[in-house]
Amino acid sequence: MTQKQTIAFITGANRGIGYETAKGLAEKGVHVVLGSRDKKQGDLAAKKLTDLKLSADAIEFDVTNPADHLKASEYFAQKFGHLDILVNNAGIAIDEQKFGGNQTSKTSMDILKRTFDTNFFSQIALTQSLLPLLKKSEQGRIVNLSSILGSLALHADPKSPIYESKAFAYNSSKTALNAFTVHLAHELKDTKIKVNSVHPGWVKTDMGGSAAPLEVPDGAKTSIQLALISDDGPTGGFFHLGEKLPW
Ligand code: NAP
Repeated sequence: MTQKQTIAFITGANRGIGYETAKGLAEKGVHVVLGSRDKKQGDLAAKKLTDLKLSADAIEFDVTNPADHLKASEYFAQKFGHLDILVNNAGIAIDEQKFGGNQTSKTSMDILKRTFDTNFFSQIALTQSLLPLLKKSEQGRIVNLSSILGSLALHADPKSPIYESKAFAYNSSKTALNAFTVHLAHELKDTKIKVNSVHPGWVKTDMGGSAAPLEVPDGAKTSIQLALISDDGPTGGFFHLGEKLPW
């Protein structure tokens, strides 16, 4: 690895969109560090990349575990001295009625708290702990994996394609994550760091299911684009394949 190689950390990168994002970034010459709850799965995923002569390694990482945030920041500080790209990809969808129907009035506090812990609070805590290293980067890109299901504007529009998809815990956790994107981007607007939310599309992963129209490499495209945007690119936006989405 050369000194100038761009360094990226992708959470939940052992499978799904996270893995393909890591692969796509590595194909662009980025050194990718794959965060994986299961170290073995992470190492296997990193090996698939190094077998392709791509630059990758893996760390054991559970986004809900504050000790892992500390370990990750120590890892990047000691090994690289900085971090260029953080892709907050890890996420869960555990609503009983995943993406059809509407059980808002019956959503349990347990489901809400667990969903927000992973999809919102932990993303913020991790970003806060890695921000000093992102500030040491010559660029600094933060990509938050949101979802079109986090768009309040589209949820309120009976003509929108997501109007009937009211999985309350998941959707509202992504709305909250979008608020983090807007607020952090505002705080950092006079720095080089760019913070954006991504809707990957409806993607054929374990979460998206087999009926999803997008193959996983296509689902990783928006994350890769925003991880690699130039210094004159957008910040504080919500995007899918180059298109701006409504909040
Ligand atoms: P997925 O196939 O279910 O993969 C989720 C990844 O997140 C896995 O690597 C999983 O690790 C990891 N993860 C879950 N909880 C974690 C935790 N506490 N700590 C660390 N890693 C954790 O999901 P996906 O479809 O690739 O989704 C990736 C992101 O895109 C998510 O944020 C999702 O909300 C968003 N998204 C997906 C779609 C879609 O259609 N698929 C649409 C919109 C948005 P394990 O292997 O250990 O479980």
